[in-house]
Amino acid sequence: MCDSPDAIIIGGGPVGSYAALNLAKLGFKPTVFEEHSAIGFPSHCAGHLSIRSLNTMGLYPLPNGIVENIFNAANFYSPIGTKFSIRFSHPVTASLNRARFDQYLARRAEVAGARFVLSTRVQSLVMENDFVKGVNILNNGRKEEFIHSKITLDAEGISSRLLKQTGLKALKPQGLVYAVEANVENVKNVERDAVEVYLGKAYASGLYGWLIPTLDGSAKVGLAVKRGNPRESLRKLMTKHPVASKQLSKAKITQITYHAITLGGPIEKTYGNGFLAVGDCASQVKPSTGGGVIFGLTCAKIAAETACEAIRQADFSSVALKVYQKRCSDLLGFDFSVMLRLRRFLDSLSDEKVDEMLRFCGKLGVNKALSDVDEIDFQGKLMLKVLGKPSMLAAIAYFVMLYLSANT
Ligand SMILES: Cc1cc2nc3c(=O)[nH]c(=O)nc-3n(C[C@H](O)[C@H](O)[C@H](O)COP(=O)(O)OP(=O)(O)OC[C@H]3O[C@@H](n4cnc5c(N)ncnc54)[C@H](O)[C@@H]3O)c2cc1C
Repeated sequence: MCDSPDAIIIGGGPVGSYAALNLAKLGFKPTVFEEHSAIGFPSHCAGHLSIRSLNTMGLYPLPNGIVENIFNAANFYSPIGTKFSIRFSHPVTASLNRARFDQYLARRAEVAGARFVLSTRVQSLVMENDFVKGVNILNNGRKEEFIHSKITLDAEGISSRLLKQTGLKALKPQGLVYAVEANVENVKNVERDAVEVYLGKAYASGLYGWLIPTLDGSAKVGLAVKRGNPRESLRKLMTKHPVASKQLSKAKITQITYHAITLGGPIEKTYGNGFLAVGDCASQVKPSTGGGVIFGLTCAKIAAETACEAIRQADFSSVALKVYQKRCSDLLGFDFSVMLRLRRFLDSLSDEKVDEMLRFCGKLGVNKALSDVDEIDFQGKLMLKVLGKPSMLAAIAYFVMLYLSANT
């Protein structure tokens, strides 16, 4: 089928492709196995990403047709319709067509020297003396074949089915929420440059609801729930929410998808002998928002650099690969711990408290304190940056008080 590649990457999602791109740029020839027949499908993501982070990774500006809209504002609503808006002085986020973005990353990786094998499912890892030595693949659902590799990067996404074979602990099921996302046409009363966020347990018990407008009057609308039927919650949001129901009263759903999101923070250990776990599979997802692309890509680059060093040193032991986790943790550990606390805080609030919080933020002028922010991914570092502003200090003191009162 193929010569033994330098590295195998399981999964041609954004994280797998970006790892492949970085390995190829470093002079290696990785092989990516993707179970679907086309990269980017099925797509189940809102593709709402920070422009600054994309730019830092050399992924912005993007070719025509990938960016659907850019945003310099966000409107937050409580379940009874209280509105709190932040308007930034410049565009901060972009919504991407995820299928096209994934295809773009894969194409760049291919041009750089990576090989993509589609319609090919990795059935299992091949273990020898506690080392991952390659994978068993099922080509087009027919023939099973062993492919040897020096190192295997697992970017299989949230299912983490293969990861479990290594003995590493997979992501925590209690950190999972269940999301629905719909493409809708005929949206009314929205600002084209603002993302709508609907907070509160009444409509989205696991995270929040969102509406991301495109320029042609359509939008991506979604939410996530901790338990219950996400489709039913979406119907409720679209028909009963005091603001969303007006925006979506005439809307028509043209496509709908369901998928889980992991909010529990990174798994305990992301490396083993001959093996690195990256992206959703390692739960490298922001617990505050459920955004996994930027942190996944950030860790994918570190994984590629670690794999490159391991190949050069011919040392694939977990002792050598440990540096992957250390580098990810040095870069993102503080942000993850702040975002996990933020998630716990938000989960602890009753809908009445959410309403109170938005009113308070409005009164304090938190929006003004945040208006010149351009980094929204690294929320721990962002918090440190804005702490010097009196309104933010007061807001944080208030949030702590709310949290404590919700937990006593
Ligand atoms: C409704 C929803 C909205 C979201 N919105 C956002 C957002 O706005 N911004 C953001 O940053 N994040 C968002 N996310 C999260 C984001 O989609 C994920 O974090 C991101 O896709 C993770 O990328 P990945 O490459 O790790 O995994 P995936 O994108 O899941 O890719 C994994 C790939 O591996 C393949 N695969 C799996 N197992 C095998 C196997 N055994 N053999 C071969 N191939 C295999 C799969 O087919 C898939 O192509 C959202 C998620 C959901 C559910």
